[in-house]
Amino acid sequence: MTRYVRFAGIHGPRWGVHDPDTNLVAPIDGAPWDGPASLPEPPLALTGLALLPPVTPTKIVCVGRNYREHAAELGNPLPSEPLLFLKPPSALLAPGGAIELPPESNRVEHEAELGLVIGRRVRRATADEVARTGAIFGATCVDDVTARDLQKTDVQFTRAKGFDTFCPAGPALVEGLHLADLFVALRVNGAVRQNGRTRDMVFSAETLVAFISGVMTLEPGDLIATGTPAGVGPLIPGDLVEVEVEGIGVLTNQVIAAASR
Ligand code: ZN
Repeated sequence: MTRYVRFAGIHGPRWGVHDPDTNLVAPIDGAPWDGPASLPEPPLALTGLALLPPVTPTKIVCVGRNYREHAAELGNPLPSEPLLFLKPPSALLAPGGAIELPPESNRVEHEAELGLVIGRRVRRATADEVARTGAIFGATCVDDVTARDLQKTDVQFTRAKGFDTFCPAGPALVEGLHLADLFVALRVNGAVRQNGRTRDMVFSAETLVAFISGVMTLEPGDLIATGTPAGVGPLIPGDLVEVEVEGIGVLTNQVIAAASR
């Protein structure tokens, strides 16, 4: 298993390999999926780095109603094939960044999700090909922040899912996890709100990537949010939100009221 982090360097974003035992980050050349070469630079202390979302997506593809109990809690039937929508890359938020509650919504909710990060170009692949070719490079934690009231009133999900800061991701990109059975949890101010396992997903990670690749070409660095387990609920200013996925770590974000425009 290898842990990668993306961080703000002096000359722009960079990637590094994070050693959890020493908490040091060894900078690498290029992106992890390029076949990283370590650089002759001294390692950096993780605590001194400004972490960035560990993805560089041309698009963020999300999957709705992929856990039975979550579909039921919102009164929705289970889809017979994956239900897709997009979040714009401008919604990405770094670990430690603040989720801004927009004035257009009166009910913004959290959704803890396993995020898949694509490692090679994928087009019209089968689930088997996805599994064999390493199309899924690794995984991270995602909070699919949602303006629930706008999701109900708008026909499309674009506004409800697309506000700036509505896609926290991180803290690391981890290669080599057994994606089929990981716990996915979310806490608000320390209280557990969501607690699921990826084995309860209706469509597996490989099936989702195959299905999406039949619609749009997936590129290295693209992010796929695989749906949320039951327990979604509202966020208010001052909340501290933690998304935890087994083997990846904890993605922590504060909630603030939006700055006036
Ligand atoms: Zn979601």
